[in-house]
Amino acid sequence: MLTVYSDSHRLQNGRAELIDGTLKPCFENPSRADMVLTEVRARELGDIISPRAHGLDPILRVHDAGYVGFLQTAWERWTAMGRDYDALPKMWQIRRLREAIPEHVEGQLCYYSMDCGTPLTAGTWPAITAAADVALTGADRLLMGDRAAFALTRPPGHHAARDYCGGYCFFNNAAIAAQSLRDRGCQRVAILDVDYHHGNGTQDIFYDRSDVLFLSIHGDPRTEYPFFLGFADEKGEGAGLGYNYNFPLPAGASVSNWFVALDCALEQIDRFAPDALVVSLGVDTFRGDPISKFQLDSPDFVTLGSRLASAGVPTLFCLEGGYAVDPIGVNVANVLAGFNARS
Ligand SMILES: [Zn+2]
Repeated sequence: MLTVYSDSHRLQNGRAELIDGTLKPCFENPSRADMVLTEVRARELGDIISPRAHGLDPILRVHDAGYVGFLQTAWERWTAMGRDYDALPKMWQIRRLREAIPEHVEGQLCYYSMDCGTPLTAGTWPAITAAADVALTGADRLLMGDRAAFALTRPPGHHAARDYCGGYCFFNNAAIAAQSLRDRGCQRVAILDVDYHHGNGTQDIFYDRSDVLFLSIHGDPRTEYPFFLGFADEKGEGAGLGYNYNFPLPAGASVSNWFVALDCALEQIDRFAPDALVVSLGVDTFRGDPISKFQLDSPDFVTLGSRLASAGVPTLFCLEGGYAVDPIGVNVANVLAGFNARS
């Protein structure tokens, strides 16, 4: 399986995130992608190529133009006020506050953010546009007839919605790729999110659509981030009713229960009969992950890859979470190797 990779991911290197009431070094950091690339190379899983530039148009197909413009100019406007530290919001536009977009960059940062764990830095814009190109180049390969491709996307994307960032995510790489596949001939695209955390951003983008099926297996939002989306009764709305499936599992759920949820998701994908499958591949379901609470062990990721291949659909993997940095490479490569062995 071919891997698409760009060194530009290193440009997103936040200094700190707010966690446990204190500013700590970011869990989401460049060493994650380095570990994955090293393992993909060592295991000789396939060619590794650089992304092709696709411009902003495919990004604007899923993200709000005002939000994209904000991300493009935010660092310059932030530093113009003499600030040189990462930009983090200090409030949020919550219940019964006006939904008007402020003029000041700090107000806009608050308006367009979901949380305080997503530092906007000097390198954010080049890193996130490169990550979108990585995902889009992976989509190119499916359209060229490849059975599968791995987009080594960093920063991740699945918490980024149409008009807000959060959870380390700015552009929703998987959603951008899925929309691009639709725009270039695929009639139906399924997105399966196997990250520990609910893919709230992807759900938001496709919630009223019947041409993109979204499914997510994740920690129950009653106790797990992102708390305010990802419940089982969220089924889609309008034309999208019946095209959104959430499989929340309690923190600490067993491996066998996790795979039962996967089988349910694969059954729905089979019924939908998509032309392409996009997998939001988070491996923070690993039992040693520092911020998650599932129990998958490294060999379980081989099984995951094999089960995904059994769907028999052209598949694009986009990297999402996974914060146990040492094993992240092995766990991701195990998924890809399990897929390769079955396909
Ligand atoms: Zn996650």
